Amino acid sequence: MSAARFDRLLADIRACRICVDYLPLGPNPVIQASRTARLIICGQAPGLRVHQTGIPFNDPSGDRLRDWMGLDRATFYDAARISIIPMGFCYPGRDPRGGDMPPRPECAAHWHDRIFAQLPNPRLVLAIGQYAQAYHLAGRTKGSVAATVRAWAEYGPDIIPLPHPSPRNMGWLRRNPWFEAEVVPVLRARVAAYLRDWPSQM
Ligand code: SF4
Repeated sequence: MSAARFDRLLADIRACRICVDYLPLGPNPVIQASRTARLIICGQAPGLRVHQTGIPFNDPSGDRLRDWMGLDRATFYDAARISIIPMGFCYPGRDPRGGDMPPRPECAAHWHDRIFAQLPNPRLVLAIGQYAQAYHLAGRTKGSVAATVRAWAEYGPDIIPLPHPSPRNMGWLRRNPWFEAEVVPVLRARVAAYLRDWPSQM
């Protein structure tokens, strides 16, 4: 795909209204992507603050994710080096049971195979939470986010499963101290090596 066609695909995503009837605040697709970024952050869906600002991970979840990755905001938002492609591009609204609704399924079904087919390889995918892990580790998840993240070393050099960095997930982090002791240092080292070597092959 040419650069112009990739730009058109991004423009089509940003103009998307497929599930307008299900989005309480309307469509506002939030995505950061380029054909030069081999590090791809794949989360769940924008929260309210991300919807309001149009900036991915522009919230406390993003602060924790940047800390895990060892990145400042300028590097994190450098689209030439880092793509941010959640499972749902639009804010799905509040879940009456607490937290936000899951990402709209129409999003991955319509867009994800098309955009990931155009991204460079090899790549390093950070698969955050159950929805991103189900898509990027199709058939290879372990039945829970904790079990999948714990098995991170099985997934080879191109994908690292992560828990959601949301403040709502503090209980999970407290119950699973091995994550910050074992996985976060590996994540930081892999990200630092990628940035050091970019734009060459990983
Ligand atoms: S969530 Fe995805 S499919 Fe739905 S309107 Fe937004 S971009 Fe389109």
